[in-house]
Amino acid sequence: MSQIVYVNGEYVPAAEAKVSVFDRGFLMADAVYEVTSIIGGKIIDFDGHATRLQRSMSELEMVSPVTMDELLQIHRDLIEKNNLDEGGVYLQITRGAPDTRDFVWPDPEEVPCGIVLFTFAKSMVDSKVMDEGIKVISIADERWGRRDIKTTQLLYPSFAKMQAKKKGCQDAWLVEDGFVTEGTANNAYIVKDGTIITRQLGNDILHGITRAAILRFALEAQMKVEERPFTIAEAQGADEAFVTSATGFAQPVIEIDGAQIGTGVPGDISKRLRDIYTEEMIKAAI
Ligand code: PLP
Repeated sequence: MSQIVYVNGEYVPAAEAKVSVFDRGFLMADAVYEVTSIIGGKIIDFDGHATRLQRSMSELEMVSPVTMDELLQIHRDLIEKNNLDEGGVYLQITRGAPDTRDFVWPDPEEVPCGIVLFTFAKSMVDSKVMDEGIKVISIADERWGRRDIKTTQLLYPSFAKMQAKKKGCQDAWLVEDGFVTEGTANNAYIVKDGTIITRQLGNDILHGITRAAILRFALEAQMKVEERPFTIAEAQGADEAFVTSATGFAQPVIEIDGAQIGTGVPGDISKRLRDIYTEEMIKAAI
């Protein structure tokens, strides 16, 4: 069965899908996106992702081409058309395709935003990474200053991930002014003496939808949470480290810049949080 994608109002086979060469998402990364995970054919935390999408668009003065109810229906249609049981839905909204390339934004009345969605299959509940953990390197955070807006400007995170790969690691933690901001596509945490430490929200990190859920579950489970910056040295001396994202849930980090974290195997708090997150999110999926 060929993959069906959604492009500007139509469901089409992926090989037939087309966007304009003038699309500003293509020319200028003038686009926002969301990735939502699917388990058992149901959507995890649609409301969280829809709310963040609307905020990203509003910060960039984009006018959504669909209502959030329509967006939910498109997700459901694509899941069904692609027979998706476990994996994710990628959605991107661009500032549309004017008839030329211009740094000035086109009038949204004349050029409507473009929208593309597709699904992908991925095993998320049973994960090898969860059993083994990942190794990360640290690298300077050289992204733009509005990381709270989920844009498709992903060249630097992609570059950082390649540097990690060249060193035999799976990801990079980004460091600004001596402190960890986040991972290339996830939020970063350490655990010391039972306290979960993660950077506070601001313009310098993405406000992870998984982060919000994990911190809520941690507090409900009477765990201690501190939202503050931490350094690579502090992380290397922590008992545990982990990252969270919509498609990775909570994944343990077992090595940072060659230094083993804790005993070098996934920690108990990371595992417990992942178990609670998986169970609760599956229960609430729609
Ligand atoms: N931080 C960055 C830079 C990301 O790209 C992502 C996800 O893509 C996250 C954090 C995690 O966000 P979420 O939990 O909403 O997937």
